[in-house]
Amino acid sequence: MLDGRSDPENLTELESRLITCRRCERLVEWRERVGREKRRAFQDEIYWAAPVPGFGDPTARILLLGLAPGAHGSNRTGRMFTGDASGDFLFPALHRAGLASRTRSRSRDDGLTLQGVFISAAARCAPPGNKPLPQELVNCAPWLAAELAFLPKLRVVLALGRIAHDAWLRLTREPVSSVNFRHGGEAQVGSLVLLDSYHVSRQNTNTGRLTTAMFDAVLERAKLLAGI
Ligand code: SF4
Repeated sequence: MLDGRSDPENLTELESRLITCRRCERLVEWRERVGREKRRAFQDEIYWAAPVPGFGDPTARILLLGLAPGAHGSNRTGRMFTGDASGDFLFPALHRAGLASRTRSRSRDDGLTLQGVFISAAARCAPPGNKPLPQELVNCAPWLAAELAFLPKLRVVLALGRIAHDAWLRLTREPVSSVNFRHGGEAQVGSLVLLDSYHVSRQNTNTGRLTTAMFDAVLERAKLLAGI
């Protein structure tokens, strides 16, 4: 049961219900305020300013799990990792790995497609300071659980950062202390392999904490584990 109604029948119905969610008062206020005030560079754009649905291949074997929408990235464009520095790092890497049709991700209708990968996140609304509260992550978990029902071929969850890693463990009802987050770490969690990477945030990629080579290696490992 999701948002008090019977289960959605497909990803499209799930998406149409998700984008109306207002469960987290603080995040609703923030996502909409950011959408009204805007960043100067995007003054002429209409921000999405709503929950961001998952995006990708419904026959995916790899689930790429992020943290939450960026205020001026996917909270602006309405598509995961689209329109900010994180996406500028992620999509070229997915393209090099043969998992994305192009290197640039600019808008929901730019024609980019993913092969073998579905991208989702622990929270679907942009949080202040990129930090959702624990209760907000709990509130949002049913949306991810509902998405999984339509991704029957998944084998690998690639968690971007510790918050995504912990959110996955909570979703699978594993004690969060049972598997510690470690870049490159992997563990069998239920029927899927949980593989960890540092998040592709500008904070990590600009400082060299996560390099292109490091992330390419994680993607190759994910493909191997997924049988791609
Ligand atoms: Fe709804 Fe998730 Fe957004 Fe909270 S974070 S308002 S649960 S979509």
